[in-house]
Amino acid sequence: MVAAPGENLRVNGNRLWDMLMDMAKIGPGIAGGNNRQTLTDADGEGRHLFKQWCEAAGMTVGTDKMGTMFATRPGTDPDALPVYIGSHLDTQPTGGKFDGVLGVLAGLEVVRSMNDLGIKTRHPIVVTNWANEEGARFAPAMLASGVFAGVHTLDYAYARRDPEGKTYGDELKRIGWLGDEEVGARKMHAYFEYHIEQGPILEAENKQIGVVTHCQGLWWLEFTLTGKEAHTGSTPMDMRVNAGLAFGRIMEKVQEIAMAEQPGAVAGVGQALFTPNSRNVLPGKVVFTVDLRTPSQEKLDRMRAKIEAAATEVCELLGVGCSVEAVGHFDPVTFDPTLVGRVRGAAEKLGYSHMDIISGAGHDACWAAKLAPTTMIFCPCVDGLSHNEAEEISMDWAAAGCDVLFHAVVETAEIVE
Ligand SMILES: [Zn+2]
Repeated sequence: MVAAPGENLRVNGNRLWDMLMDMAKIGPGIAGGNNRQTLTDADGEGRHLFKQWCEAAGMTVGTDKMGTMFATRPGTDPDALPVYIGSHLDTQPTGGKFDGVLGVLAGLEVVRSMNDLGIKTRHPIVVTNWANEEGARFAPAMLASGVFAGVHTLDYAYARRDPEGKTYGDELKRIGWLGDEEVGARKMHAYFEYHIEQGPILEAENKQIGVVTHCQGLWWLEFTLTGKEAHTGSTPMDMRVNAGLAFGRIMEKVQEIAMAEQPGAVAGVGQALFTPNSRNVLPGKVVFTVDLRTPSQEKLDRMRAKIEAAATEVCELLGVGCSVEAVGHFDPVTFDPTLVGRVRGAAEKLGYSHMDIISGAGHDACWAAKLAPTTMIFCPCVDGLSHNEAEEISMDWAAAGCDVLFHAVVETAEIVE
């Protein structure tokens, strides 16, 4: 028995690229990218193509009650738990060709390469297409992996509605991908996810491989400020109850609080709604969301407390009402040091430039980490552009990360001679 394949072994980068381009033909966007949103006809078509490819590679495809697909390559030991490689084939409405898709098809390419090279492993390999990672049509994101990890119930997931009022449960049946497996019944030996970075760091640092060590935690805090609607021309300054002014001061505080936690923390406001939003009326109501993220649990808790305290203080001074609701939350994730070391070691062995990196976005891997040793590999993307039809990566980048995935996965699944 040897621990890992020799360093001369590589995946077939051209074949991986061809699969990516073939999948991108399904659910084309309007600007060169993709619109293959969850549980649409295009999603169903993409699933059929993936299933066909998996079966041609000798794998057996199972589907669970959330519509997540699991393609299995058997191992030699019937008692050994599988090594999972997963990501998602669904896209944003104006999504790219690689976000999620790269990870699923790279998993399949790993299996195809193992077949070509006659590699047998003790643990089975399971390539996974998680349903509804994006959450664009049915919020929240990472829905199926969340149910799998016990974060959400199946009933909750089925009742999610798209903007037209259609439910997840009905749409899953309609496209014919309601599976029979109980969600979360599978047990994992390890979980790997290969994904585009969706940020500019790897390209700027000229690195081929991102060794992902953590996933940021986040809070989305939705504030509702209540002032008094009044004429901007005829209301004296000292008689105003100005929710807009309170909003401005809180935004400045959010910036200060994040800057005090540098490096390794971000916070900002991306959405604000003034009511009535008229140029000559002081707003009676302002609703806005603060998005704060950091890989440190301590910083995450401290920033949330500081932002809430600052908002209360600002509002009290101005006589403005203030309430806050947490509308989104993840704890930070620390990926498994052994698997992280295996990814770094594979990049080193294969001669690829690499750096440690933290995931700024959420991924299915963040939920999988609750269940099994988990890690991620990042591929650079041009200008850090993602959730955009212009999202681009190079064929060499895609292949390099897939090589690293191949070596790290086969080592974890244990080669049998
Ligand atoms: Zn993604």
